[in-house]
Formats: sequence, structure tokens, C-alpha cells
Amino acid sequence: MNKWNVLALAVLASAVAACGKKETAPEGGEPAVTSPVAVEVSGGNPAAEQAALEIAGDYMRAIVEEISDDRYEGRGPGSRGDAAAREYLTERMAALDLEPGAADGSWEQPFDLVGINATQPDTWTFNGHDGSLTLQQWEQFIVGSGVQEERAEVTDAEVVFVGYGIEAPEYDWDDYKGADLEGKILLVMNNDPDWDPELFGGETRLWYGRWDYKYLSAARQGAAGAIIIHTAPSAGYPFQVVQTSWTGVQFELPAGDEPRSQVNAWVTEDSARELVAMAGLDLDELRERAFNRDFEPVPLGITTSISMDVDIDRVQSANVLGLIRGSDPELRDEVVIYTAHHDHLGIGTPNEDGDTIYNGAMDNATGVAQVMAIAKAIKALPRAPRRSVLVNLVGAEEQGLLGSEYYAANPTFAPGKIAANLNYDGGNIWGHTHDVTFIGLGKSSIDDIVRLIAEEQGRVVKPDQFADKGYFYRSDQFSFAKIGVPAMYLDTGTDFVDRPPEWGRQQLDHYTEVNYHQPTDEYDASWSFDGMVDDALLGFWTGLAIANADEVPVWSPGDEFEAARLEALEAVED
Ligand SMILES: [Zn+2]
Repeated sequence: MNKWNVLALAVLASAVAACGKKETAPEGGEPAVTSPVAVEVSGGNPAAEQAALEIAGDYMRAIVEEISDDRYEGRGPGSRGDAAAREYLTERMAALDLEPGAADGSWEQPFDLVGINATQPDTWTFNGHDGSLTLQQWEQFIVGSGVQEERAEVTDAEVVFVGYGIEAPEYDWDDYKGADLEGKILLVMNNDPDWDPELFGGETRLWYGRWDYKYLSAARQGAAGAIIIHTAPSAGYPFQVVQTSWTGVQFELPAGDEPRSQVNAWVTEDSARELVAMAGLDLDELRERAFNRDFEPVPLGITTSISMDVDIDRVQSANVLGLIRGSDPELRDEVVIYTAHHDHLGIGTPNEDGDTIYNGAMDNATGVAQVMAIAKAIKALPRAPRRSVLVNLVGAEEQGLLGSEYYAANPTFAPGKIAANLNYDGGNIWGHTHDVTFIGLGKSSIDDIVRLIAEEQGRVVKPDQFADKGYFYRSDQFSFAKIGVPAMYLDTGTDFVDRPPEWGRQQLDHYTEVNYHQPTDEYDASWSFDGMVDDALLGFWTGLAIANADEVPVWSPGDEFEAARLEALEAVED
């Protein structure tokens, strides 16, 4: 806990307690100060409670309804729907009187995307000593190009089972053991070891447990390709999410000099089972072996070839940036950044009703709406917070956090000057909750601030309710954490007011099963914005507290991002 926390958190409580209660302004003056400490919390501005009232469901609803409309065609990066959404959001920012936050006084920070559209083969054949196995595209496998070239090709490569495919010196874990994997196809398990709390965060999924790490890890070994074995528990979502997310155009930032494999694939668990059975092995037994530090790669004696034509297209998207300049001449070059991604999947494979537009209403029109509502409230303060506040609506998140990654590599404030990142991705569409989910709880001193404010809202802060799904690494706060910025993501609680205890989880599970990354993620007039108002208020007060504090948040000692923070702070020291 830093100095400011110790001194001011206690007093912050009473200021926040007043939030939501309408103040009556004394004649000809500012609203009455309900608490002397409101001054400290709100940067010398007694009207923060009044400003907080700007966070209203109707304002958010209008934004969600607009950009999730079919007219925006699912906001696929680089599409006309993407451009239209950015234009609309720019107008809304201008209407709030934000300042253009990108370079040269512009609203947009453009970035190039390489669109890769592989013509996936209908079948994929694997040859063993006495027999072969042919898998069907879509039902059994999904494959993408690992290279930004017109053809991806692997010829007669041997398939090697590599367990988790993890190299983690800090856990004394190396699944490769120096094996020569050059030109091989690696069959790899998803997730990371989760049976021991001392290993890889226990049930919490770390970066090591993510698909992007798996492919990168295989490429570092010089592998020709990697095949991830899908299981719903180890991925955190059903195979249909793989199908819809990995077909059609895939976007990447332009390639640098990082290692790359030719192909990156997924297979269903049943297919993997059949594949290893061809080698006379049992998948469960292989996985059992992989639960051990002593695991060594298992060549399967199976070879395979695959090739695909790849359409390469270069398009542009942009992050939309609106700035509220800080009021303190000494601190205004530091910033609190709110993020929410404005993109979604665009137009894609039709669902059974023939709908091809992936509207992305909950994911993430709701997050955009919450951040805009927070900006509206901050702008309603008669005096801006001490530090600056940047509203950063990033693009191309669904394709691998690309907009935020680009921003992190090309930030408008030096990383050491970014006090914190608060991210919203997927709002609560079901109503008030007794709890709020804090993705990243335990990682930084932001915890203390959020806990206290939530308490004043009468809510409890819970850690990730689905820790095995690795949400911290699945949205844009991760891009900020990687450059050292203390970062968090506020997500839907699960304990709904006036509902049975299991109701919330049922809604969330149902959403994941039926609507997540599907054309059915559409706005519904029956959605409640009450929970989003609560969550946005929490983010408003938290950001305000950080923007006005003497000291900036810090990572918990030993956190995986602490070293990056120290480096970033050193870089901006005079
Ligand atoms: Zn999202």
C-alpha cells in the first residue's frame, strides 16, 4: 500500500458514500459539499458526486444500440463498419468536449493490419506406420497460416507430442528438454499445469496457458507448425468459438523478425485421441506424463503434409483517443487510461438462422459505452483531475489485442508516465449485483482502492470467477501490463440482487455457450443497464482516486509485471 492509500483511503470512503445521492445546489453556487474529504478524492472539486450522476443507463444504451446495429456490420477491423464505428465514437467524444488524444491533434491513432485469409484444406491426412487418419476441416480441425506469405506449406513433417509446450525457467519447467524440433509439427495441450498452487498460479491461467503463447513457443523451437488439442475446460470455451474465431480473415500487426511457424492449428480432443492411437498411444496416458517436470517430447512416428493458399491483404484500423487534460501542472503529463475495444468479428460464417453479422453487442459495445459514460462524468467535473485521463477505444482486440499492442508500442504517454489502465470488456446486461469481478485482483495496489469503493457501493470485490479461463491475458489490459502499467479489468459480478445464488453463473455460462463470438450477440431492449451503471461508477471513482493521488499504483511485490514497471519508471526519471 502506498502513502496515499494509507492516508486517504479511509477518507475516500465517506466521499464515495455520497455518490449517487442527488445534491441540491445552493443558489448561485456549486453543489453543497457533502463531505470535506470529497475535496481530496476529487481533486479539489466538491461536485464529484454530482458529476457521477452523468453515468446513466440511457446514455450507455444509446451507444450500445447504435454500434451493435447491423449497419455497422459487426465492426470487423479495416471494414467500413469499423470506420463508421470510429467516426461515430469520435463524434461522441467531441460532443463530450474531450480533446483529440492522438498525435497531431487527431482523434485516431491509425495502425496497419495484415489480413490473412487462408483457404483451409477440406481434409488433413496423417500417416502412421500402418494406417492413416484423415480429419475434416471445421468439424475436427481448424488451421491458419503462421506466416504473412501467399502460401503456407509443411511437407512430411513428423508429429511430436510436447505436453504443455512450456518453457518457464522461473518454475523450473521445460517441456522441450533440448529436443530437436526443427521442422516438426508439435501436438500441444492447452492451458498450464493447474493442480499445484505453487505452479503457474495454480488454477489461474497464466500467459503460458494461452493459445498465443503455445504458437509462439512452437515457433521459437523452429517447429513447422503447432496443433493445440482443444478441450472446453482447457480452452475456457467450446470448439465452436475456435471455429468462428479462426476462420475468415485473421489479422496481425505487420511481421517483424520474430520466429514464425508455417501453420497454427486446433484439433478436437477426439481427433487428437485418434491421432495418438495411430501411434499405439493413449492420449490420457500421454497427458498424465505431461503433468510431470520430467516430461520429454514424444515423437509419434506419424508424418503429415499440409499446404494452403493465403490471401494477404493490408488494411488499416485505428484506436480512438480522447483526452481530458489534467489540472495539476506537475502531474498532467501522467495519465490514467481507460480502455475498451470497439471492434468485433465483422461478417463471417452464417449461423443456423443464416445470420452472418457478428454484432458484438455485449462484446464490446457495452464496454465502450461504460468508458464513454465514465468520460462524460469526468468531463462534468468543474475542475479536471490532477493527472490527465485518456479514453482509449482500441481496435482489433478480437484478433489478438492488436490495437492495444500497437498503442503499447507507440504510446502517447511514456509507459512510466501511465499511472494505471482500467479496462472494460463485456458489460453486465442482467442487473444489480452484490459483487463485482476484478480481473487482476491481488496483482497491484489498485486492489485497495477498488475494494473500498465497492464496499461503499455495498458490494464485495471478487477475484476472477473463472480463473481457469485466463481472462487477465485475454483483453486489452494485458497489453498495458506487458509494458509495466498496473492494469485491471472490471467484469460482471455473479451474485445478482433478488436472484437465486446460482442464477448469475447460469446467465454467464449460457452467454458463453450460445452468444459469445456468435451472430446472436445482439442488443436486446430487455437488457438491464443497472449493473453497468454500478460498474462504471466503480471505475469512475477508482480512476479519479488514482488520477488525484500523490503516488501512482504499484504491482504487488514479485508480480510477473513488476520488473517491466521498474524499467519503465527508470526510463522517465530525470
Ligand atoms: Zn471483448
